[in-house]
Amino acid sequence: MTISFSDLPIRDEFRGMTPYGAPQAPLPVALNVNENTHPIPDDVATDIVDSVSLAVRDLNRYPDREFSLLREAFAGYLGHGLSAENVWAANGSNEVLQHILQAFAGPDRTVMGFGPTYSMYPLLTQATGAQWFAGERGPDFSLTAASAVAQVEEVNPNVILLCAPNNPTGTPLPLDVIAAVYDATDGIVVVDEAYFEFAPHDAPSALTLLDGRPRLVVSRTMSKAFAFAGARVGYLAADPAFIDALRLVRLPYHLSSLTQVAALAALRHADTMLATVDNIVEQRDRISATLTALGYRPYESWTNFVLFGGVADPQATFLALYERGILIRDVGIPGHMRVSAGTEEETTAFLDALASLEF
Ligand code: PMP
Repeated sequence: MTISFSDLPIRDEFRGMTPYGAPQAPLPVALNVNENTHPIPDDVATDIVDSVSLAVRDLNRYPDREFSLLREAFAGYLGHGLSAENVWAANGSNEVLQHILQAFAGPDRTVMGFGPTYSMYPLLTQATGAQWFAGERGPDFSLTAASAVAQVEEVNPNVILLCAPNNPTGTPLPLDVIAAVYDATDGIVVVDEAYFEFAPHDAPSALTLLDGRPRLVVSRTMSKAFAFAGARVGYLAADPAFIDALRLVRLPYHLSSLTQVAALAALRHADTMLATVDNIVEQRDRISATLTALGYRPYESWTNFVLFGGVADPQATFLALYERGILIRDVGIPGHMRVSAGTEEETTAFLDALASLEF
């Protein structure tokens, strides 16, 4: 007899839910999960392997529970006068967000974001027993201070997740919106800057707002610009008191010593690791221009992906591209699809295949 998890004595709110499930298919051109598709440069790979090789000899011991060297390195990378006490890290920014929600959400609490937004926010929220509330965006998925403040005042959430720039739409979020939302709530305001490095070089980070705002937190990841998704390293910056709260919920030794030394080695080569960003931005803008020429409606993007409308049948488009060895994403917005900017060759393969479709 086969049963499903809903037949088990699972928490009621989980019955009928679906897990995160971006397809993982071994296709030659995978542009569906906003990875950096450029491989790690050889000299960096060698340094990482040397560091890991040394650390392997100490695997009989637990890792540094406070990952002090890594926190110092992240503080140095972020700048803005931050030091190690302001920094936290975990296995991907998904786990960073999970720590935040375990500490500040939970049963009888509410978490709010502005949809469409990152699909893990509701799942991470509900896993803590809290309620997810999806606010609305304006035209072209933008969000103004006035609209955000009005919605926050109505819902009065304990945690607000602002994705800046937003996934899956690519939309930038002006700092005045973040500051206004902070003033409109006494809850925690999380700015998820997973894609920050792909924004224009003169665009300010929410890190500039941290001073004097102890309920504000800015999360980042090494998965996108740093081309380090497989290593699972995300981090955040906040007031040291906020970091103390996260120590209550993390598992002891949650960052393995292999992860710590690999991330440290990658950070030593930050410039090399980030060298592909300008090229990816170039490919992103080429995607937008070509989509427009093909009659689709791309949205402004400050990320490494493009959301586009005007897709008559997203599922048929997904399948037709799949058959041509190209994986993009149906994000569930009717008439829309999302594609990550790849290398020049991958991007060309996608654009040529899309142009060849006969519907
Ligand atoms: N935040 C946003 C907005 C994302 O798009 C993603 C990954 N798709 C993450 C966080 C999580 O990334 P990771 O766990 O790899 O750091």
